[in-house]
Amino acid sequence: MIKFCLAFWFFIALVSSEKFRFDNYSLYNVLPKNENEIKLLQELAHNDIEYDFWTEPGPSAEFVNIMASPSQKYNLETLLNLHGIDYKVTIKNIQEIIDKETVKPYTRNSRFMTWDSYYTLRDIENWMSDMAKAHSSIVTEIVGGVSYERRPIKGLKISHGTGRQVIFIESGIHSREWITMATTCYIINELLTSNDEETKAAARDFDWYIFPVTNPDGYVWTHTEDRLWRKNRRPQRGDIGVDLNRNWNNNWLVIGASANPSSNNFAGIGPFSEPETRTLSEYIRSIDNIEMYLTFHSAGQILLIPFGNTTEPLANYHDALNIGRRAMGALSVRYGTQYTSGNIAEAIYHASGSSMDWVKEVLHVPLAYCYEFRDRGQFGHLLPPDQILPNSQEVMDSLIELIHQGKRFGYFNNSDVVKASMLSTSCLVIVLKCFM
Ligand SMILES: [Zn+2]
Repeated sequence: MIKFCLAFWFFIALVSSEKFRFDNYSLYNVLPKNENEIKLLQELAHNDIEYDFWTEPGPSAEFVNIMASPSQKYNLETLLNLHGIDYKVTIKNIQEIIDKETVKPYTRNSRFMTWDSYYTLRDIENWMSDMAKAHSSIVTEIVGGVSYERRPIKGLKISHGTGRQVIFIESGIHSREWITMATTCYIINELLTSNDEETKAAARDFDWYIFPVTNPDGYVWTHTEDRLWRKNRRPQRGDIGVDLNRNWNNNWLVIGASANPSSNNFAGIGPFSEPETRTLSEYIRSIDNIEMYLTFHSAGQILLIPFGNTTEPLANYHDALNIGRRAMGALSVRYGTQYTSGNIAEAIYHASGSSMDWVKEVLHVPLAYCYEFRDRGQFGHLLPPDQILPNSQEVMDSLIELIHQGKRFGYFNNSDVVKASMLSTSCLVIVLKCFM
């Protein structure tokens, strides 16, 4: 009888499980004025994993976003007031903002995504599939790996011919950063349908490997159970999930990552312990000729370059920063959005085990950038849908400028495409000379 009751209770609990609600959870925009205040916030982030830090209290952090539950708010405000740390509450009731987020259904075969709404994993995959069919001469559906729950990590390859250098885009590794998936779909759409000459040239001159959702289990979870889930969904010593951007085999767990499975920055039980990072890294390794690697995150309006474990200007630091800063200039033109730039450790915080550092150090990819998209603390991971289009447009502007500036600094210049066009130019010169 007892067994039957337990089974019945379990069944009821299972069918009645609902999406987690964030009623009266608040988002704090904390504004540290000096090193001491930053140190205090760092200790809080480190010692009290109950608080959800949406941005890290790095040494040069202008603001730090902290989400607090109704029961945590009093303690957090008391602590901040006690130490005279300035803050404002930018979202009073997080659930209200979540309720306003639109998730539209995608109509199969329409090939039409609107840029004022977010989409589910299935709809993003269906849309990619339809785009691949509609542009079958240049687009291939690709699978970059597999998740813990056996979902394929799907993407698109856009290629106008052989011998081109590769631009690789990895997006959505942190599942709650919905703006990253949306903007990545916009970039795919632009590369396939834009009439802008520079965008068309960018699509034509490179092989593009684009993965909008590299943490598919986490992304599904954010739609069905917990909108603010960040990690993957693999059970870990009584807890769930690994921060997939701390799990790459490069200075793994050295700094800025946690060994505690309850932490949002849990690095896993070893480098590449997770199926997502292991399979995706193998896939990336199999691609020759990656000239630029881009990884998309939110929020903070920051462009990051390697590395996260040191502020030393290693490798082509100065080139990468110069190119990146110019691209952020282009990004600001359309809407005035300002990004800061720097290596991970100097711009935000020491963090190791990220995908960008791995591709830079292990694969020696010439240019590697990590975007932290809009905004600067007002909505954080809950960027309202009316900012999807402006965010996407300005990022696309910056991407074109990254290529343009990269060429000026001597990158993107040894592809067969360039060689072929140089060859045809020299042939033309020879022909002309023969007729002169
Ligand atoms: Zn992220």
